[in-house]
Amino acid sequence: MAKENKKKQSLYLSVVVPVYNEEENIPHLCKRLITSLDKLKKTYEIIFTNDGSKDRSLELLTSFHAKYPDKIRIIDFHGNYGQHMAIMAAFEHCRGEVIVTLDADLQNPPEEIAKLIAKMDEGYDYVGSYRDSRKDNAFRTYVSKIVNFVRELITDIKMADHGCMLRAYSREIINQIVASQERSTFIPALAYKFSSNPTEVEVRHDERVAGVSKYNLYGLIRLNFDLITGFSLVPLQLFTMFGMVISFLSGLLVAYMLGRRLLIGPEAEGVFTLFAITFFLISVVIMGIGLVGEYLGRIFQNISHRPRFVIRKIIEDK
Ligand code: UDP
Ligand code: MG
Repeated sequence: MAKENKKKQSLYLSVVVPVYNEEENIPHLCKRLITSLDKLKKTYEIIFTNDGSKDRSLELLTSFHAKYPDKIRIIDFHGNYGQHMAIMAAFEHCRGEVIVTLDADLQNPPEEIAKLIAKMDEGYDYVGSYRDSRKDNAFRTYVSKIVNFVRELITDIKMADHGCMLRAYSREIINQIVASQERSTFIPALAYKFSSNPTEVEVRHDERVAGVSKYNLYGLIRLNFDLITGFSLVPLQLFTMFGMVISFLSGLLVAYMLGRRLLIGPEAEGVFTLFAITFFLISVVIMGIGLVGEYLGRIFQNISHRPRFVIRKIIEDK
């Protein structure tokens, strides 16, 4: 036991990879990861979280674990809890002093991990990354630029490209993240909140080697809501301010209409303009209810005592 603890403490690097239906990518990923990590000449472990894959991902991961039992650990989820919860579970179990996250689809080249480690060794506690030329479709890239812009404007999180998951964090940051017990969160942003000395490096970005993106449009919208409403109250505050301005303007309109009514008498003209204004205001109110609901939903999730994820088993070298 004492010997095992010593072994755990002396581990330098944990690489964390969420996996959801990535059977075509796992063999290449494991090979490239192990080759590039061996080159670092540091002690390391790779933790895969199988996020409820329905294909042969778990089977393949298990066979790699059998091949490299001291290097590979697998957390097997009971269902699909999403990329960020998969990373969260691995954070709870990782043992390294430096923790690197990476996607399983090889869009983040494992060879680039060395760059992040070099920066961590310079004393930074958070090494983010931005993609030199992003290899995703134009729609994704464009929307992501808008969300990056909005996030920069309304949160105090400063990063060039929050969507790039190839990142390195210090043990202290991971301890804070684990202690926060957040759900529906956006890990790079949460980690940034706990960092004291962050930096960023440019990394290569490749096309998905095989398979398709695991995010549909709804999933992407949800993820971006987690980023915006999870890290800023500005949308609510803007809404209140907008309400105040509109109330003031409507007050002026009422006074003007009242004046006309007294001076000219009842009029029916302009009724469609009023309809238009009413429809606009109703839509704003509906949006506001939705916005409040977003925050309320987050509170609801956080006060319910349901587990954030359920682990079926952990496959590791005892
Ligand atoms: N992923 C996951 N659970 C999910 C969706 C995705 O674990 O519900 C993993 C996926 O296997 C990959 C990473 O998260 O390793 C990023 O997913 P993807 O490449 O589909 O996202 P994109 O690059 O399109 O943003
Ligand atoms: Mg991808």
